[in-house]
Amino acid sequence: MCGIVAYIGQKEAYPILIKGLKRLEYRGYDSAGIALLDQGELKIYKKQGKVAILEEFAADKNCEGKVGIGHTRWATHGLPNDTNSHPHFSENKDIALIHNGIIENYNVLKEELEHRGHKFISETDTEVLVHLIDDIRKREKVSLAEAVRMALLSVTGAYAIVVISKDNPNQLVAARKSSPLVVGIGKENEYYLASDATPIVEYTKQVVYLNDEEIAVVDLNEGFKIVHLSNQEKTPYVQQLEMNLEALEKGGFEHFMLKEIFEQPRSIHDCFRGRLNVEQGWVSLGGLKEYEQKLVNAERIVMVACGTSWHACLVGEYLIEDLARINVEVEYASEFRYRNPIIGEDDIVIAVSQSGETADTLAALELAKSKGATILGICNVVGSSISRITDAGSYTHAGPEIGVASTKAFTAQVTILTLLTLFLAHKKGTISQSAFQSMLCDLEAIPDQVKRILENDPKIKEISAIYKDVRNALYLGRGSSFPVALEGALKLKEISYIHAEGYPAAEMKHGPIALIDEEMPVVVIATKGTSYEKVVSNIQEVKARKGRIIAIVTEGDRQVKELADHVIEIPETNQYLVPLLATIPLQLLSYHISVMRGCNVDQPRNLAKSVTVE
Ligand code: GLU
Repeated sequence: MCGIVAYIGQKEAYPILIKGLKRLEYRGYDSAGIALLDQGELKIYKKQGKVAILEEFAADKNCEGKVGIGHTRWATHGLPNDTNSHPHFSENKDIALIHNGIIENYNVLKEELEHRGHKFISETDTEVLVHLIDDIRKREKVSLAEAVRMALLSVTGAYAIVVISKDNPNQLVAARKSSPLVVGIGKENEYYLASDATPIVEYTKQVVYLNDEEIAVVDLNEGFKIVHLSNQEKTPYVQQLEMNLEALEKGGFEHFMLKEIFEQPRSIHDCFRGRLNVEQGWVSLGGLKEYEQKLVNAERIVMVACGTSWHACLVGEYLIEDLARINVEVEYASEFRYRNPIIGEDDIVIAVSQSGETADTLAALELAKSKGATILGICNVVGSSISRITDAGSYTHAGPEIGVASTKAFTAQVTILTLLTLFLAHKKGTISQSAFQSMLCDLEAIPDQVKRILENDPKIKEISAIYKDVRNALYLGRGSSFPVALEGALKLKEISYIHAEGYPAAEMKHGPIALIDEEMPVVVIATKGTSYEKVVSNIQEVKARKGRIIAIVTEGDRQVKELADHVIEIPETNQYLVPLLATIPLQLLSYHISVMRGCNVDQPRNLAKSVTVE
């Protein structure tokens, strides 16, 4: 959560910072602020609300300066008002700092500093850090970088910070622990720093991802240096960015979410490209090569994730257990990490996360690692923390996902888990050669089938118009369509603020059926497969109570069509692949309802992407 961006070099910093903040806004949008260093003066502008409000506010100000830092906030400590916005500054405004994360022991530090006469003006945890750095610098008479290092030694919690100081106009000092930070090395003695590479990519492709407990000092006279918190100097590992600018723009769509929904034929294809071959009959996940045998022999796989990724894991659980006959447990990372889980050296723990930065998922992995488990990752963002701490993993290759509500990342995660299932089942011989072959064929056809579902968008939009004002909705599915129901409900609540719940269809009788009346829409995934007849009975039960049914059915279905108020057809596929198709109309339904209700689709209230705080 929260996006940080900084620049030092030969160009004007302000336009770079504002543009960068807009790219990072998906990470938080409670407030935004910048600090610029200009001819010995430190100017700070910050405003509650979105980056556009800050931009408006700064329009008539002097925003010159070739060094600057910027922040878009997702508040953890203190209201999202102007005062609590970042950058925070030292008492005499010598030093300013931006921060992503939480300083957990801020109270203790604050008390100590207050005893020494420091006065605080905000309610944030962050302000403590800038006072601490200032205090150390003055007391110990050390350089800015050394003061940052010493201050961080007494901090517990998570941080990515960038510090700017009046006394060091040629320098930016940055550091990270558990929150991401990338340094871009520009072409002409200039440096860019940001929470992810999106604000950097149009200026340079040369980047260094900072590791935990590393401090980066970029200095126009002395160059780029990395020092570990232990004071050991490190050699920066420069990487080439593989990201194109177009992927970060809306490309003619009204919202990023819609663009990302429509990108799914391509993103699913990109995800399996080179990883399966129908003619030769193989599946391979290159990133997991070294651990193939361990996976094949595994008695148990534990998956940890949060939110939408957790739903993808649940789909994976159905697939792997059924087809590869390996016991799978799916855990919320936040629960797993705090409940002393029984994990040992024989276990394989797979973390699934779009950003690869999810704080709880990272902590769950660290815990599993400390217990000797093999830890693997499935994430979308190349170079992210999860991809770096895991023993091995697979990227989903879905491309940057900017809309806060996850869409293409989910289907890409499910695609990877399907490939993993097929690989394991094939190696273990738990799937027949013909079933394996036909499933490969069906998987290869998915991108085109998704395209066909997307062509049905006008009809889904019409249905959305009928239900846009409901207050509650129920989503039902069985087997691997149960997680699809959960995901459908989550999408609706995230972006349209309608209360929605996902249930296994048969569980409806154990409670939610009491809610059904003529007001209540019930979205049912009723595609052909083993539980089809059972789901039809569940639909009958809803109809008997006057509930309204929106059914996702297999093309050509007649039985459900007679019962349901609306049907949305999806092409026929192997029943294990239905989640990849059934999810699409549910994404569109939520999208249109959200737009019709006038909600902010890409930046829903209170939410942010890349949840880097626990
Ligand atoms: N904890 C800090 C605050 O509440 C930073 C939050 C963030 O990462 O945006 O201001």
